Amino acid sequence: MRKTKIICTLGPATEGKIDQLIENGMDAARLNFSHETHEIHLRRIKETKQAREKLNKPIPLIIDTRGPEMRIGVLSKKVTLKQGQIFTLVNEDLIGDEKKASISNKNLYLCVKPTKEIFIDDGRIRLEVTSIKDKDIICKVTSGGVISSKKGVNVHDCETGLPFISESDIKDIEFALDNDFDYIALSFVRKASDIYQVRTLLKKKYKQDVKIIAKIENQEAVRNIDEIIDASDSIMIARGDLGIELPISEVPVIQKKLIKKCYSNAKPVIVATQMLESMTDNPLPTRAEVSDVANAVYDGTSVVMLSGETAAGDFPIESLRMMVQVINDTEADIDYRKRFDLKSFDQIEKNVLNIISKAAVVASFEIDAKAIVVPTRTGNSARMLSSYRPKSAIVAITVKPEIQRQLNMSWGIMPMLSKFIGEQKELYENAMELTQETGLAEKGDIVVLTGGIPTGSDGKTNMIKLHKMGDKVINE
Ligand code: PGA
Ligand code: MN
Repeated sequence: MRKTKIICTLGPATEGKIDQLIENGMDAARLNFSHETHEIHLRRIKETKQAREKLNKPIPLIIDTRGPEMRIGVLSKKVTLKQGQIFTLVNEDLIGDEKKASISNKNLYLCVKPTKEIFIDDGRIRLEVTSIKDKDIICKVTSGGVISSKKGVNVHDCETGLPFISESDIKDIEFALDNDFDYIALSFVRKASDIYQVRTLLKKKYKQDVKIIAKIENQEAVRNIDEIIDASDSIMIARGDLGIELPISEVPVIQKKLIKKCYSNAKPVIVATQMLESMTDNPLPTRAEVSDVANAVYDGTSVVMLSGETAAGDFPIESLRMMVQVINDTEADIDYRKRFDLKSFDQIEKNVLNIISKAAVVASFEIDAKAIVVPTRTGNSARMLSSYRPKSAIVAITVKPEIQRQLNMSWGIMPMLSKFIGEQKELYENAMELTQETGLAEKGDIVVLTGGIPTGSDGKTNMIKLHKMGDKVINE
């Protein structure tokens, strides 16, 4: 079983192909709300829900918020900016041209001054501020090119005082909650309090079980990484914006550090952006891209992501297949035991769940278990096992479809839905039947069973059994 999970971003290129994506290994679907209308998203949500039901695969939906990003306004047409010319970012909303464009952040003029660099469209266009006139920012083009409407704008280390969640983000998040999304990926998180703001919103909507992914995409987030890891459920290394907001040469260093930090803090981590970028227009990736995916897997990332490759590329299914193939070949080379032994895991708090989970993973290595089986109410017990990155597959038994969907994105976990909320004995017998259904273990195989006894509301994980499939789990 493949352990590293794959997020595919949905877009025009995936329309009518969601079932193919699921069949070819998509583990989670991301919808990017920086683009397109609710109506278009709704169409894609419906297609995903239908396909996951038809194929019986618990594919979670992830909303990716716009966040406190900056963009230029609408231009009358595509324009070419020439090096050396003057280009003005105007505060007022207007239709722009080759001389000016409006800027979405009305506070930007407060935090830039002459010689400050402004980047447009992923850094392809560079401006240098020459002066501020009223609230307009007059710039000289230092690196020209073609720009079109609504392109993204980045400025290094510029705290513009924009609120973290805007009215439009709130509307998008509410829309996502109404449509049963499982994860919220928050763009341009800066500090832990940004995440708490969203948690408060979730609580108001009685949706506090929805998981939050903090996208790390600027200097401030990197600086506050410890409190952000602590406050969020997962981290995304958003290399696209990170490579503009910081010197691009620092991105690999940050990626490695963050994977390591998340690994030892038991937090899932996603590596995102340009992983197979050249496959947007080509049927095959470059060697460098393949190495990039493989290295992220070797380093222990939980998830890798496809963005434009699936959303807007010419080869969405081929990109996904390539991703699967690279992960499979890389994982086949990983010595999980050795990797586990080299980790100290000393950041992980010592409590009953964590100690049992670690011991279960050690047992699974020692006995080369076919699977680790864990009934889990909230998904936490299964996620804790996943944090130790065992060689054995983790079969998570849940009764809630939304927990099953969330777990589908967790490293090494195969989540199974149990219809059963019965007695202890029935719960465990049913768990073993479901394990057999996965095809990972059969009668006579040893699996590591971990869970809580007695079951019930306080049935927190507290025991390990090395269980022979086919035997009774417990007596009457
Ligand atoms: P985006 O985030 O695709 O929403 O911009 C990812 C990134 O910046 O890498
Ligand atoms: Mn981004």
